[in-house]
Amino acid sequence: MNIILFGPPGAGKGTQAKILEEEYGLKQLSTGDMLRAEISGETDLGLEMKVIMDQGKLVPDEIVIRMIRAYVDSEVCSKGAVFDGFPRTQAQAQALDAMLAECGKKIDKVIELQVDDTALISRIQKRAKEEGRSDDNVEAFKVRLDAYRNYSAEVLPYYKEKGLHTQLDGMQDIESVSEALRAIVSDL
Ligand code: AMP
Repeated sequence: MNIILFGPPGAGKGTQAKILEEEYGLKQLSTGDMLRAEISGETDLGLEMKVIMDQGKLVPDEIVIRMIRAYVDSEVCSKGAVFDGFPRTQAQAQALDAMLAECGKKIDKVIELQVDDTALISRIQKRAKEEGRSDDNVEAFKVRLDAYRNYSAEVLPYYKEKGLHTQLDGMQDIESVSEALRAIVSDL
């Protein structure tokens, strides 16, 4: 089973992806986490991407596509994957479809978590204190939110056309969102 968790920064994608990982054995594939690992490892790629990420902009498609490609057909994804923060462009969505098809897999559902902007800003401020992420400041956050508006308008129609898109109220507490997710996932 392969699921995309879609939603603005701070919507709770990472939290819910981890719950799905524990409960269903699906591998969480977060391109944001992979990029942050490159930064902490101080790799050349990490140092180069940090500049873009700190501005809240999207990194080039080929970088994240390559990161995801390394996983889709691997053993850790034998039960499937939860894509968290990927795809963010139509090119990424098409590349994902193609690489899944190559190994006889497909996307089963795209779940959009809906959270209003005010709630997002306070969640992000909380996360900045807890995790110290350098792109969790209000300025970069606004750019990320703006980027989200643009890329969701590009990516969601792609999945709506395929009848794979569904929405979920991300304003509820973590357990209620998980419960709603379980209901969707168990139906697949
Ligand atoms: P995230 O943790 O998913 O919010 O991602 C943090 C940052 O990493 C984003 O603001 C982008 O700069 C970059 N990033 C993560 N995933 C992608 C992606 N699929 N496409 C482009 N940039 C990405």
